[in-house]
Amino acid sequence: RQGRLLALVGTEGRTKDGTRIELAANIGSPADLPIALEYGAEGVGLYRTEFLYMAQDRLPTEEEQYLAYRAVLEGMHGKPVIIRTLDIGGDKAAPYLDLPEEENPFLGFRAIRLCLARSEIFRVQLRALLRASVHGDLKIMFPLVSTLEELRQAKALLEEERQKLLAEGAEVAQNIPVGIMIEVPAAAVLAGTLAREADFFSVGSNDLIGYSMAADRMNEQVSGLYQPLNPSVLKMIQLTCEGAAHHGRWVGVCGEMAGDRLAMPLLVGLGVTELSMSAPALLSRREQLLNLDLAQAQRVAAEALTLGTAAEVEALVHREFGDAV
Ligand code: PEP
Ligand code: MG
Repeated sequence: RQGRLLALVGTEGRTKDGTRIELAANIGSPADLPIALEYGAEGVGLYRTEFLYMAQDRLPTEEEQYLAYRAVLEGMHGKPVIIRTLDIGGDKAAPYLDLPEEENPFLGFRAIRLCLARSEIFRVQLRALLRASVHGDLKIMFPLVSTLEELRQAKALLEEERQKLLAEGAEVAQNIPVGIMIEVPAAAVLAGTLAREADFFSVGSNDLIGYSMAADRMNEQVSGLYQPLNPSVLKMIQLTCEGAAHHGRWVGVCGEMAGDRLAMPLLVGLGVTELSMSAPALLSRREQLLNLDLAQAQRVAAEALTLGTAAEVEALVHREFGDAV
């Protein structure tokens, strides 16, 4: 089996009937690139930049960030790279930021919220990204967007920094796609509106499931409610895909669900066209995809939306795809 899987390195992700599904890797630093490429990543679907901010006891400088982003873009040799802006707060702490103690950190000051409020920190990252943009195929993605205003504010800051760099004579790529993560139910429900102003979506299923079910996967008392296959979660993803399609945007998934063998056929059936996961899962998903018929996946996904429980959805997937999953 290993040999058969390895033969898939260098091939494109496609369903049985030839529909293109991009299979990308999640990375946390340039050091993760060799393994991503070894497993045949067609791009980077999520570069979690917070590790740059957590590795030291101070903020990373613009130059340090620029070098890291450039290394990833160059290391991918022109393949698409989605760099997510800082997603700190919640479970990811940076003591030097002196953030206020919060009663509910996961409903609090994190990710894009923090970046918009502490724009002096955010601007440094945006400048580093813009400067790195000429070294490859960069897309920029904002995490945990809940409202259209947040997207507009983040884009406005990006545009301001772009103008400043151009005035300074720096080189910046033209038309860098700017997308958002769909991790908050409010954003999934409003996807059709957000899609007017976002170039793409990537579903952060880890957070989207947690916020949809109001359940912490790490809390044993309630982790049973953390159900990726709950029809309500699938409905959120369906709304996301529908809203995106309305404006000709594409949707990816970059949470754990993307690499999950039971979830994958449903995601593809709902209209997701990019799956970003930890590198070792890439080859088995690519093989699974080659055996997946898109029309069947669409039919099964539509049926899953009518079911009542995650267990019923799981049974449906097993029944329909049998050994293929
Ligand atoms: C997610 O929430 O699914 C996601 C990819 O973001 P992170 O896991 O970094 O919070
Ligand atoms: Mg997240």
